[in-house]
Amino acid sequence: MTAVQPKPTPVGETFDSLNPATDEVVGTYAVHTADEVRAAVERARGAALWWEGLGYAGRAERLQRWKGVLTRRLPQLCQAVRDETGKPLRDAQLESVLAIEHISWAAKHARKVLGRQRRSTGLLMANQAATVEYRPLGVVGVIGPWNYPVYTPLGSITYALAAGNAVVFKPSEYTPGVGKWLVDAFAEIVPEQPVLQLITGFGETGGALVGAGVDKIAFTGSTATGKKIMAAAANTLTPVVIEAGGKDPLLVDVDADLDAAADATVWGAFSNSGQTCIGVERAYVHERVYDDFVAKVVEKTKDVRAGSDAAAQYGPVTMPSQLGVIRRHIADAVERGGKALVGGVDSVDDRYAQPTVLVDVPEDAEAVREETFGPTVTIAKVRDMDEAIEKANATKYGLGSTVFSKTRGVELASRLRAGMTSINAPLSFAGIASLPFGGVGESGFGRIHGPEGLREFSRPKAVARQRFTAPITLTSFHRRASADPMVARLVTFLHGKR
Ligand code: NAD
Repeated sequence: MTAVQPKPTPVGETFDSLNPATDEVVGTYAVHTADEVRAAVERARGAALWWEGLGYAGRAERLQRWKGVLTRRLPQLCQAVRDETGKPLRDAQLESVLAIEHISWAAKHARKVLGRQRRSTGLLMANQAATVEYRPLGVVGVIGPWNYPVYTPLGSITYALAAGNAVVFKPSEYTPGVGKWLVDAFAEIVPEQPVLQLITGFGETGGALVGAGVDKIAFTGSTATGKKIMAAAANTLTPVVIEAGGKDPLLVDVDADLDAAADATVWGAFSNSGQTCIGVERAYVHERVYDDFVAKVVEKTKDVRAGSDAAAQYGPVTMPSQLGVIRRHIADAVERGGKALVGGVDSVDDRYAQPTVLVDVPEDAEAVREETFGPTVTIAKVRDMDEAIEKANATKYGLGSTVFSKTRGVELASRLRAGMTSINAPLSFAGIASLPFGGVGESGFGRIHGPEGLREFSRPKAVARQRFTAPITLTSFHRRASADPMVARLVTFLHGKR
């Protein structure tokens, strides 16, 4: 057993960020007060006007240059991620590369998605020209988690910036150094105005941002915090995007490629120490292939090990309090008749959790119902895919999901109550910049990424322009007596046939 990991702790008005593999202090950051947060939002107001004034082309040019800096300094960024999360450098690279793709996509597509578009007017208003354009909201507050400290907050920041907003960003108290790195790199490219600002601290600092008069809060983190943020935002009617937790299922149909499905399960469940909001936490497998599938998962899991050496597949559990949750879920599953085919309660020490594969766990156990956020997976046998869908959907969450099926993938995907599904590969929707990302139920609402992500940080502005005076004027007290019967006849002709 290694020593108990300390949490980041406040030191006066600062706090230390620690390396979860070694407990070394990797940086010291301010605990920003409510007044300081409000001042940052005030500064952002002016910056937002300036940034909006750059127009789509000006913003795209800056965002593409920012992307270039991130790409050229990738090793440095990955080291910053590894220092604060403990994850292997190659995982840090994967999340950073995906984030870079998003910056590029958002910069390139903002004008097309948000710029002025014509809308049809209908016959009654044929004398009008109708357009809609998506204007920036102003200042967006982004509150981030620590598990993917580049990919996750940039999913909101990038799209908010591309839509023309200024951003005040509070990274997790576990990863302030990565947040600072990203903001400093942006300031090199946009030195004129504080378009992207960093504030650091704990939940109170995040709470101050919610109440600081921002035009929207984009929150990514746990469902419990999401609820608090939504309640606090109600006081000022501040709109929110909530990207919260998940309990993602993976379905294996009778005709699935079992090797690929087992590989996806092992990677989806254990990579990043299971600290992935869209990680695989439950598998539902057709009874005819169940035994083969379980054997393959067990076999493949033998190659997977947590550690901080270069050969380890994943690192420590970043947030110490999560170790207790992982242990509790495994213990509860085993007490209720579940079997750990690999791992078990003893595979969780005070820093690392080795992989655990659970079978025969009752569907109402915590390991099946609650987000474990650790390297565990439950595998359940189902009669058919109808039962798989029913069980997969029987959760309060609805974030990601995966289906392995050669013939029924699309059908099964459409029946899953989840914001995203990938078919015959794990988590692939997360790497496609044009696809919206987000959940339903207690996984949250609103979308980042893709056109929907750009619109999330904009307000539609509708304009109707009269092109010529209509033969029948409807919007005047002086309209002719014949106008109303004529309109009644017209609407009957247009809409009264059935
Ligand atoms: P968390 O909820 O503990 O913290 C997230 C952020 O909220 C941190 O910056 C924290 O300081 C801040 N915060 C805490 N209390 C606050 C309050 N009262 N007001 C305002 N801000 C407050 O979550 P975490 O442990 O950092 O992240 C793990 C969770 O995030 C998991 O549940 C995971 O599933 C989820 N997650 C979801 C997505 C997604 O896209 N849906 C992505 C990554 C992580």
